[in-house]
Amino acid sequence: METFDVIIIGCGAMGSATAAEAAGRGARVLAIDQHSRAHSLGASHGQSRTVRVAYFEHSDYVPLARRALAQWRTLGERVGKRLFHESGVLYMGPTTAGTVMKSAQSAREYGVHHELLESHEVMARWPQFAIPSDWIGFWEPEAGFVRPEECVSAMLELAERGGARVIESAAVTQWRDVESGVEVELAGRRFSAKSLLICAGPWMNKVVSAGSSAIAGGGLTPQGACTSGLFPLSITRQVLGWTHARNLNLSDESRMPCFLIDNGDGEPIYGVPTASDQGNPQGIKIGHHKPGTPCEPDAVDRAVSAADMAPLETAAAKYLPIANGRVHHAVVCMYSLTPDGNFIIDRLPGHERVFVAGGFSGHGFKFAPVVGEALADLALNGSTELPISFLGACRGCLLRR
Ligand SMILES: Cc1cc2nc3c(=O)[nH]c(=O)nc-3n(C[C@H](O)[C@H](O)[C@H](O)COP(=O)(O)OP(=O)(O)OC[C@H]3O[C@@H](n4cnc5c(N)ncnc54)[C@H](O)[C@@H]3O)c2cc1C
Repeated sequence: METFDVIIIGCGAMGSATAAEAAGRGARVLAIDQHSRAHSLGASHGQSRTVRVAYFEHSDYVPLARRALAQWRTLGERVGKRLFHESGVLYMGPTTAGTVMKSAQSAREYGVHHELLESHEVMARWPQFAIPSDWIGFWEPEAGFVRPEECVSAMLELAERGGARVIESAAVTQWRDVESGVEVELAGRRFSAKSLLICAGPWMNKVVSAGSSAIAGGGLTPQGACTSGLFPLSITRQVLGWTHARNLNLSDESRMPCFLIDNGDGEPIYGVPTASDQGNPQGIKIGHHKPGTPCEPDAVDRAVSAADMAPLETAAAKYLPIANGRVHHAVVCMYSLTPDGNFIIDRLPGHERVFVAGGFSGHGFKFAPVVGEALADLALNGSTELPISFLGACRGCLLRR
């Protein structure tokens, strides 16, 4: 049986970042994915992901986001590509909109460069948008976006440069704790390591349940349910689309920022501008940042209907005069939601040498490099100095009370 320091299940955003980091530190790494690299069947596809530092979800993310943004730049330099696009991010909404107000609050708390603008100032600066006169804008100029498929490929390239072995198109069917560490099984082969990192995205419930323990007293409950209370995660089907711009100069990343429009109904619309390196599909990307319909990741309906696109077209017609009003292309992606919308990055309860990173709740991509750093610390040193204690698995017990 081949032996490694770390085995990583899943080579999406988090697994590929961790493989790059751990291999870069000289660890013997095996990273495995059930699909080919940078595939479009999980959570890390769809051409763009916004990267921002001010954080409405929880201000404790700000130091992590700041570190990750710097890491995206460095990663780009290491692979000789521009991974991060500094378009800025603009939030728009009424003064009661949590996304706008909490972003501003976290920016003030942590000294993130930003501006608060009146509605008329927003539309004077960015005629791409039409918003009510009593709304405000929160502008974070140093934010932007990355291309997820490019980032995953770049991080796997760095992992391989560091000596990592990457196995594609082979699903891990079982894993277990053993006295010396962990063992995993895939396609009739077995591998062992000192630590196991589960970065399985929407398949997290399934992969966690595929575990068992050969150590007396350790492991999962007899039903295979994790004892942390945070699993199973809720997996939802998310549709994102592209709309052509009426004016390509104005929709370009140099003139138009990433945006989030929150009218206060809890269902903000987000979007990403066009860019010369965009490829297909062309146009402004738009999506709804709200949980879609629950789904099973291997059986999610990937066909997009007119009904899926209608809410995006309605929002574009209302707030985006630069768009031509039609969604001409759309794809399906998946969110993995925790009850409180915060990630889980921790030791899997009951398993000394197994760590999980999941429940990224539709906002995790931007953090991939810093998640990789934290997971490499956990796997190789058993602990991390990074401020991730608010993402612990055991908060599930508190949430259930
Ligand atoms: C529509 C949409 C928009 C988003 N927008 C943003 C955004 O703007 N900004 C942001 O920061 N975040 C955003 N996110 C969230 C972000 O994309 C995710 O949090 C992130 O991509 C999750 O990465 P992951 O590595 O956990 O999952 P994935 O990328 O899905 O990776 C999991 C991998 O595990 C593999 N796997 C599963 N089971 C097995 C097995 N048994 N054996 C081997 N391999 C296995 C899968 O094949 C997959 O490749 C968005 C998400 C969606 C869906």
